[in-house]
Formats: sequence, structure tokens, C-alpha cells
Amino acid sequence: MNFSSKLLEDAVNEFSKLPGVGQKTALRLVLHLLNKEQEEVDHFGNSVMRLRKEIKHCSVCHNISDHELCDICTANKRDRDVICVVEDTRDVMAVENTGQYFGVYHVLDGLISPMDGIGPSDLFIDSLVQRVATTPVKEVILALSATMEGDTTLFYLYKRLKDFQIPITTIARGIAFGGELEYADEITLGRSIVTRVPYQSSLIK
Ligand SMILES: [Zn+2]
Repeated sequence: MNFSSKLLEDAVNEFSKLPGVGQKTALRLVLHLLNKEQEEVDHFGNSVMRLRKEIKHCSVCHNISDHELCDICTANKRDRDVICVVEDTRDVMAVENTGQYFGVYHVLDGLISPMDGIGPSDLFIDSLVQRVATTPVKEVILALSATMEGDTTLFYLYKRLKDFQIPITTIARGIAFGGELEYADEITLGRSIVTRVPYQSSLIK
């Protein structure tokens, strides 16, 4: 692309670094911003800058939060002894949207993937084991995507947690193999959580 302005070119290049955004789309977005009121563009820029600088991760569940502890971990009405283990914050949002779950979460920040060089020590797995070992926990629900990485992580977590003698369940497979949690519709995901099954029995196929 031949740009008439270096500022325009820089902005388009930055936007096109975002996933799923090509140069054409980036140009459309940038021109759109140019037509907005100054105040609105300032707001947009500030929100991006503050996001990276100020956002925190909950020190208990690792979910993205504005505070040291997230709103779910500090809420009075949640069952603190039921922990739902998910891959990332998008899955927390997906499960919350079902309105069917009242426990707390543990965000792993990814899945075990030897192909991508991601091992257990790259994820918040030790802190999960620590949580189970040091706080009263009645059940751990493993709500991971039905993919190869999800299954590998599921099996590894089961091995790490099984000696604690607490029920380890997994969401019922209303979710098709290869399905990612964030794409499951709310009703299907809600039903999967309510009808969760012990992990041991899900190993027998
Ligand atoms: Zn939290």
C-alpha cells in the first residue's frame, strides 16, 4: 500500500498486527477513527494504554481483574469450595453467561501443548494444587476444551489432584470433540456444567 501519510501508515500497520485484521480492514478502521470526534479517539487510545498498564490478575484464581482479588473470588454468594478450572478468561465469561454455575474459578492461562512447547510449569497448575491442598475444596470441575490439548491437560490435572480424595468432575460432552468452550452456546454449556460427570468414568469409553 502506498500511503500519503507516515502517521496513517503507522496506524494501519499497528492495527494489522491484530489477529484476523488484514491491511485493508486496518485501513478501514483507521479511517473510521479519523472521522470520529477527538474526544472519542482519545477515549479509545486511553483505554488501550490503561489496559496493558493497569490490569491485574487475581492472586487466587488468576482471572483478569481490576483489583488484587477478582469480583468472583470476593463475592459473598459464591461457593468457594467448588473450583471450576478453565483455560482462560474467555471461558470464565462463557461459563458465567450460562447463569448455571455458582462456584469459583481457577484460570490456567493456557493448555498443555508439547507441539507449541507449553508444559505444565508454564501454566498455573502448581497454584491450583496448592489451593486444593490448603483450602477446603469439595469438588474440582475440569471445564476444558474438547481438543487434544484439552484432553492432555485434563489427564495431567487428574494425576496431580487424584490423591486429595475429592471428586474431580468434567463437563458433560454436550460439547463436540474439537469444540472450544467459548464457542459453545450458553444453553449447551450450561447443561454440560449441570450434568457434569466424574472424570474417572469419562475415561472409560
Ligand atoms: Zn479470583
